[in-house]
This record gives sequence, structure tokens and C-alpha cells, in this order.
Amino acid sequence: MSDTPTQQFETIQIHAGTEPDPATGARQVPIYQNAGYVFRDTEHAAKLFGLQEVGFIYSRLTNPTVAALQNRMAALEGGAGAVCCSSGHAAQIMALFPLMAPGRNVVASTRLYGGTITQFSQTFKRFGWSAKFVDFDDLDAVKAAIDDDTRAVFCETIANPGGYVTDLDAIAKIADDAGIPLIVDNTSATPYLCRPIEHGATLVVHSLTKYLTGNGTVTGGAVVDSGKFDWSASDKFPSLSAPEPAYHGLNFHETFGPAAFTFHSIAIGLRDLGMTLNAQAAHYTLMGIETLSLRMTRHVENAQKIARWLEGHEAVAAVTYPGLDSSPYKARVPRICPKGPGALFTIKLKGGYDACVKFVESVKLFSHVANLGDARSLVIHSASTTHRQLTEEQQIAAGAAPDVVRLSIGIEGAEDLIADLDQALGA
Ligand SMILES: *Cc1c(COP(=O)(O)O)cnc(C)c1O
Repeated sequence: MSDTPTQQFETIQIHAGTEPDPATGARQVPIYQNAGYVFRDTEHAAKLFGLQEVGFIYSRLTNPTVAALQNRMAALEGGAGAVCCSSGHAAQIMALFPLMAPGRNVVASTRLYGGTITQFSQTFKRFGWSAKFVDFDDLDAVKAAIDDDTRAVFCETIANPGGYVTDLDAIAKIADDAGIPLIVDNTSATPYLCRPIEHGATLVVHSLTKYLTGNGTVTGGAVVDSGKFDWSASDKFPSLSAPEPAYHGLNFHETFGPAAFTFHSIAIGLRDLGMTLNAQAAHYTLMGIETLSLRMTRHVENAQKIARWLEGHEAVAAVTYPGLDSSPYKARVPRICPKGPGALFTIKLKGGYDACVKFVESVKLFSHVANLGDARSLVIHSASTTHRQLTEEQQIAAGAAPDVVRLSIGIEGAEDLIADLDQALGA
């Protein structure tokens, strides 16, 4: 659906997936606050339900405002199609749903958003799924973890919270050799800083809640499919490559080719799981995306300045920003995220856990919030909040040890942010 692949990112983020409203000529995408759509006649209805014609049936499945966002997300990531859903966590389930079955597993990085580690290690069990967590810098360990029941490899581009940049090309090669898809959570990088499909990812998942909307107003998620994976190359993905009993025996890959995953996600995923994004949320996200490149440039500039300043502060023991010379991941930045390594990192305070608590309570301009990617600068003590359900060993592996604080640098004036951090560190 990326019908304008030759355009610049700055153009795609404003125009892709939208046209003047066919009914009214409205230039902005209208908010179709609507549940059902009138069929022309019974034959039209039957064709829509049979997927012989594409159109709007019911907003749990498709809605014009949400469809505009789906098309824009596909274009921004360079994918063949996208499906939006109610949150980033919903997107992860939606990405895995067509691939998984009881007894199957995912090989996942140890460095993930805390909520994802919990979803994968605890809630997966209810579906009979499991996850094997591996250090993704140890490529042999990743290879060794993949077995006959593995149906996906999962990682984040820039892992939350630790300033870790994944070598997507190397991981994609391992997944490809094993004949299974690589799923990349690109939330912290956004397609402006990294396009994982260009590094070999099959599916890209997003929490739209973060940088894409960009001002902390909605929760939303998206799954973008590259359209490049051959679901029929093995018998591992019968939902896509064999007659699907949940849709009167339709073979999605045979019927829809590179759009198989997206059609399956809408026709079965949204139909039966119901994790639908609403039109209002899609509207806020479309508005946010129009300024994505401008905001990300500023986020990165601010993060670079502030990380460098923090590294020189006497109360700070370490800063994990991958834009710093001290970061072991700096060398990967030009290849993986050439426009900068995001605006999310942790600082380790010399005063340990107590100093972290004092610091979080002393900031004034930074807000103590369990979110990231907001225009506002945010701070959180991950170990006692977002990564609280993890064991201390898991916290350390994820970069959320008890003596570190996570910063999400916003787009305010950098000098004001530094002044606030300075007074809070002094406390
Ligand atoms: C926030 C986040 C999620 C979960 O997204 P929600 O919209 O909160 O459900 C997943 N991955 C990463 C990297 C995140 O930052």
C-alpha cells in the first residue's frame, strides 16, 4: 500500500494513505465516528463478507479513519500493509496470533519493554505459547534457541529502557536461515530513525501511544507487514498457507499474496480478538505523524546534549545513551538508526536506589510518568514501576536495575531541561 515509495519521508508522513474525502472534499481525514456501513444490496454484502470485494462492513474490522492511518503506517515503514489496534500490547498479540499455536514458542531478546517481558513470560502461557529469552548480542545463543516449534524471533530496535541498539541485520539473517519471521518492535526508534524492513524484518510492531502520536493523548498499536515472507515455504504457518477453518477454508497466502498477513489480521484477528483502534485515536495519531520527522530530530538533538551533560555530572555513575562515545552500541548507530539513536536512556546514580527515588521526586519540569515519547520530558524509576514484575536478574538484563532511572527526553528547550536535572541531582 506504499503507493508513493519514491517520496521523501517528510512528504509521506503528511500525505500517505489519505486523499480529500470522497463525500465532502474535506482535506483533513474526517473522524468517521461510525459503527456500521450501508450495503448497496445483498450481493454487495455477501461479497464483502466473502472478501471478494474490499470495503467497510463494521468498525470492529475496518473504519475509514483507521484505514488512513494503516495505509500511512505501511508507507512510513515501507511495508505491504498494516493493521492498527488498541495498544502496543494488542499489536504484539495481533502480530503473533496468525503464527502461533499451543506448544509453539518465540525467541525473544532479554532487552525488552518490561510489560512485554511479562506478557511473553506469563500471559503467553494461557494460550499454550512460550518465550525463550536470549541475549541478542550472542548470535550463537539466538541460533541455538530456535527449535522446531519456534514461530518468530522478537526484538526491539532501540530497546526500552536501556539505550541498547539491536543488530537487526544479523538477527534477521538468523531468522531467515531458520525460515521464521523476525518481528521488530520499532516503538522507540520510529520509522524516521529506523526502517526495520530494510534490515530484513518481516513484521514491525508499534505502540502508537509513544512518538507516533507524540503527545501522550491516546493508546494505540500497529502491525506492519513487509509482504516479503513466504508463508507457504514450509508447513509452519498453516493459518496463512493452508485452508483456514476460521474463514470457511480460505487459503490467505494463495488468495492475497503479499497482503495475506494484513487480510488475515483484519478478517480474523480483529474480528475475533476485537482489539480495535477507535477513529478518534486514529485521528490523534494521524495528526501526530504529520510532524514526526521534526519532533524526532529535536528529540535526538536534546537527548544528545543532555546525555553528554549528564555524563559529566559528579552524581552520575553512567549514562546509557547510544549517541555517546562511552556506549558499546555507538558503532551500530550509523547502520541501524542513521538519523540518531532516539531519546530514551537510563542514568545510573552513584547514590544507588535511594538517590534514584530522591531524584525522581525532585524533578519539576520532567514529569514522573509511566509513558515515553511524549513532547514533554518524562522520568521513571523502571525497577519499581514498568519493570516491577521482573526478577532482579531480569531487571538487570533488561537494563532496568534498581539503581538506574529512565529518561524520555522531550522537545522542550534543552537548557531548561538541564537546569531541572541539575537542581534534582543536587537534591
Ligand atoms: C509502551 C511500549 C509498548 C506497549 O505499548 P502500549 O501502547 O502501552 O500497549 C510496547 N513496546 C514498547 C517498546 C513500548 O515502549
